[in-house]
Amino acid sequence: MSSDPPREVYLDHHATTPVDDRVLQEMKPFFTEHYGNPASKANHSYGHRANNRMEQARETVADAIGARAGGEPVAKSIIFTSGATESDNLAIRGLAQHAKKTDIGTHIITSEIEHEAILEPCKILEDKGFEVTYLPVDEYGQVDPEDVAAAIRDETFLISIMAANNEIGTINPIKEIGKIASDYEDLWFHTDAVQAIGAVNIDVQGMGIDLMSISGHKIYGPKGIGALYVNLKTKGKLEPLLVGGGHESGKRSGTPNVPGIVGLGKAIELAVENREERVTHIEMLRDRLWEQLLAEIDNIELNGHPEERLPNNLNVSFPTVNVRELVRMSLTDHGVMAALGSACSSGEDTSHVLEAISDDKDRIEGAVRFGLGKDLTTDDIDYVADTVVEEVNLTESLF
Ligand SMILES: *Cc1c(COP(=O)(O)O)cnc(C)c1O
Repeated sequence: MSSDPPREVYLDHHATTPVDDRVLQEMKPFFTEHYGNPASKANHSYGHRANNRMEQARETVADAIGARAGGEPVAKSIIFTSGATESDNLAIRGLAQHAKKTDIGTHIITSEIEHEAILEPCKILEDKGFEVTYLPVDEYGQVDPEDVAAAIRDETFLISIMAANNEIGTINPIKEIGKIASDYEDLWFHTDAVQAIGAVNIDVQGMGIDLMSISGHKIYGPKGIGALYVNLKTKGKLEPLLVGGGHESGKRSGTPNVPGIVGLGKAIELAVENREERVTHIEMLRDRLWEQLLAEIDNIELNGHPEERLPNNLNVSFPTVNVRELVRMSLTDHGVMAALGSACSSGEDTSHVLEAISDDKDRIEGAVRFGLGKDLTTDDIDYVADTVVEEVNLTESLF
């Protein structure tokens, strides 16, 4: 970076989000005042207080995702973790251990466009004798429920399909897949809903979801906290990855991250509370950006589904532009922060998600992800559009 840009606009909200001030304010006392260990709840009031607040957050999370019985949140279905990477690992490896031990099965169905936190555990299981089917997706990045149904075998014990993709924003038909899974005994349905929370309505019971991964820092909460939802009939089957003091009803040992848990509770509460209003605002900004880019740039393509996509996602390809230079130099110099592919797979040469939806090398290599946030304004978006148009057309003229 040469000099400080005149203005900074952050457009990488799929990688992480800022902590909402309302979330931070809720968390603060749990660092310095109510710092007791929840496991000491029987010993003194500090422990008791921390534990109470943690259990309240557990109810909030359960309630926000529709985990209810008789109208009341089923708090016991929430296991707090260090983030969605751990939640994904716990769901897949925890059930795989059980399936192996009890001879339930050795086959997993997932998709080609999952996050690495799903794909890597699957690879490890393949080395241990499990079989994994990686379903292809259509040109928009959607999994076809009929493909899921056709891939089920006697040995299948787990289907793991993400609710929404973190690179191209495509939303999957989760309810249809959940319905298919529910017709079978000993077949669990897990979904990584990290990007979908707060963007689409998630109702674990209505959607037939048995397990679901959530992360704090993708929904204006803190980093290093997440949760795995697991319905009570499945919870007994889940083998823990971390053992020790038996926290989280034996499913995840380790002193709970109380401030993080409080923050996750507040973040998910805010995410579902004003969802429609926020979604409308972000969609308006996203469409405004797309329309301006489309009007001013000749060679541009939309990646992902035109309608079934996250409101804050705009993934576009500039096939005639060196986007590495565009994103890392030109846009950065102007304070516009976007991403190449996905931040989590920045080690990859090309995105496995874009490769799953296209054979066109220029399109795959020319992709830029704009991940919008709730606090952006039309002014920010117009500045981004002007900057991108100017820089893209400048780079193109060099050809
Ligand atoms: C960010 C992300 C994760 C990982 O979440 P962490 O809390 O950072 O571990 C998993 N899945 C998806 C889809 C993500 O976007």
